[in-house]
Amino acid sequence: AGARPYATVNPYTGETEKEFPFLETGEIEGVIAGAHDAFGAWRRRSVEERAAVVAKAAELMLERKDEFAALITREMGKRIQEAAGEVMLAASILQYYAEKGPGFLEPRPIDVMQGEAVVVNEPVGVLLAIEPWNYPLYQVVRVAAPNLVLGNTILLKHAENNPQCALALERLFRDAGAPEGVYTNVFLRIADVEQVIADRRVQGVTLTGSEKAGASVAEIAGRHLKKSVLELGGSDPFIVLDAEDLGRTVKAATMGRMANTGQACIAAKRIIVKDDIYDDFVAGLQQAFSSFSPGDPADPATTLGPVSSERAAKDLHAQIQDAIDKGATVLAGGGRPDLPGAFVEPTLLADVTPEMRAYREELFGPAAVVYRVKDEDEAIALANDSDYGLSAVVYSGDLDRAKAVADRLESGMVWVNQPSGSSPELPFGGVKRSGYGRELSELGMFEFANRRLVRVL
Ligand code: NAP
Repeated sequence: AGARPYATVNPYTGETEKEFPFLETGEIEGVIAGAHDAFGAWRRRSVEERAAVVAKAAELMLERKDEFAALITREMGKRIQEAAGEVMLAASILQYYAEKGPGFLEPRPIDVMQGEAVVVNEPVGVLLAIEPWNYPLYQVVRVAAPNLVLGNTILLKHAENNPQCALALERLFRDAGAPEGVYTNVFLRIADVEQVIADRRVQGVTLTGSEKAGASVAEIAGRHLKKSVLELGGSDPFIVLDAEDLGRTVKAATMGRMANTGQACIAAKRIIVKDDIYDDFVAGLQQAFSSFSPGDPADPATTLGPVSSERAAKDLHAQIQDAIDKGATVLAGGGRPDLPGAFVEPTLLADVTPEMRAYREELFGPAAVVYRVKDEDEAIALANDSDYGLSAVVYSGDLDRAKAVADRLESGMVWVNQPSGSSPELPFGGVKRSGYGRELSELGMFEFANRRLVRVL
C-alpha cells in the first residue's frame, strides 16, 4: 500500500483509466499551514454558518447523484444501484449533522452549589482522516459532516484506488462554500503519514480501514500524543436460533453477506445456525448464493459485481483455497468466474476449523462461513471466539430469547431480526480489534471536540 500512485483502475475491465501524482513531501508543510490558517477563521464563524455549508454540500451531492454514482462504480466496481444508494446515504448524513449538529453543540450547564459551571464544545483544529474505498463517499462524510459543523478543518487522505471520488468530494465542499483549507484532499504517500500526524498543528487522526493500517496509525499517534479514532475490520456473527419465516431469514443473511459484493465491515461473515434448522437454512442459503450472476456493475441488471481490484480478488480466493486445502466443505462457489474482471464466486464454506485462515481472518468479499451449533451457549462462545467485535446479528421469533443472546455478544453494535446497517442517527464503531471510538449520531460529534469546562464564581 502507498507505493503505487493514486489511480482509477476499473475492476470490471482491469484497465488503468487515470493516474494522479502524489503530494510531494516538500508540499506537505504548505498544505498543513493552509488547513491551520483556515481553522482560525472557520472556528470563529457561527455554528449556523458552518452548518449551512454542510447543508449545501448535501444538496449538491443529491444534484450530482448520477455523476457520483458512476464514479464509484468505475473506481471500485460497486453495482450502480448500490452506488446510487450510497450517494443518498452520504447526503442524508450531511443533512443530519447540518440540522442536528448545532443542537448537539449547545453548552451543557452542570448543577453546582455556587456560581456557574458549563461544558462548552469547541473544535480542536486540523484533523487527518484516512479513509477506505469500500464506501468512498459514506466513509468520508461520517468524519467530515460532524467535524465541519463543529469547526475543525480536515486533511483527507483517501484510498489509492478512488482518486476521482476523492477529488469530487473536495470540489463538493468548495462549491458548497467551504473556504480554502477547510477541507483539503491530500494524495499522501503512506510514508508521509507520520509527518502529518507529528506536526504540532495537527490535533488528531481518524482511520477507517484494516487492522494493519490502524495499528500503524495508532502507534504513530501514540508516539506524538495525538487523539485517534479507529474503525477497523470485522468478522460479524449472524446467529439464527430459530426461524418463524425461514425464507425471510435466509434472504436477510444473504443480503447481510452479499451487499456491496461482500465488502462491508459489518457484513454477516460468520453465519451460525442452530442444529434443528441448520439443514433447511443452509439449503436455502446454497440456493440464494448460487443465484447471482457476474456482470458489468454499470448495468442495473447485474446481480454480482467485481470486487475492488484484481489483488483483492486474489487475496480472497487464497483465503478460500486455504480452507478448501485444509478440508473445508464448499457448499457454493469456491472459485473465480472465467471473466476478465476482479470476480469471485459467491462462496459458502462449512466445516471450517480454527487452523484455517477463514476461521479467524476477515473475508472481505462474497464469501461466508456457516457453522452448526447445538444451543445458545455454543453459538455465543463461537461468536465471541474472534479478535474482532464490530457488529453482530441475532435472529429469533422469540424476542426475549434473541435479546438475551444479544446481551452476551462482544460487539460495538448488535442488531436483532435485521441485518446490521448504518443510518445517520445510529452510532457506529467496534470493540476489541475492530477499533475504538464512534462515528455518526450525537456520539460522532464529540470524538474531536474539546468539551471544555467553564467555571464562573
Ligand atoms: P486499508 O488497506 O487499511 O486501507 C484503508 C486506508 O488506509 C487507505 O486510505 C489506505 O491507503 C490507508 N493505509 C493503508 N496502510 C496504511 C498505513 N500503514 N498507514 C496509514 N494509512 C494506511 O484497508 P482496505 O483493506 O483497503 O479496506 C478494507 C478494510 O476496512 C476492512 O478491514 C474493513 O473491514 C475495514 N472497514 C472498517 C469500517 C468500520 O467502520 N469499522 C468500515 C469500512 C471498512 P492506500 O489506499 O494508499 O493504501
